[in-house]
Amino acid sequence: MTSPEAKRMWRRAIKEHFNCQCVYCGETYELHELTLDHVVPRFCGGQTTTRNLVPSCRKCNQNKGTNNWLTWMRQTFGHTPRERRIMEYIT
Ligand SMILES: [Zn+2]
Repeated sequence: MTSPEAKRMWRRAIKEHFNCQCVYCGETYELHELTLDHVVPRFCGGQTTTRNLVPSCRKCNQNKGTNNWLTWMRQTFGHTPRERRIMEYIT
């Protein structure tokens, strides 16, 4: 998991796992339009592992910033079935 190619494949696999949807707003994007977001931000101890990385559009990634993902998501979108999906994925 150290070569750039392996890294690229890994990032792609995470996006494909979520059908190229932004986990937060639920919109579908092209692979290259999606970023990978640390559910638990790095500065809060979040790690760069598959279980802490979810595909996010740039807009959601920016808006979420360093907020708690669940708090931010509920403030932004209300209660959605997507939060459960994230919860199951990260635990
Ligand atoms: Zn989004």
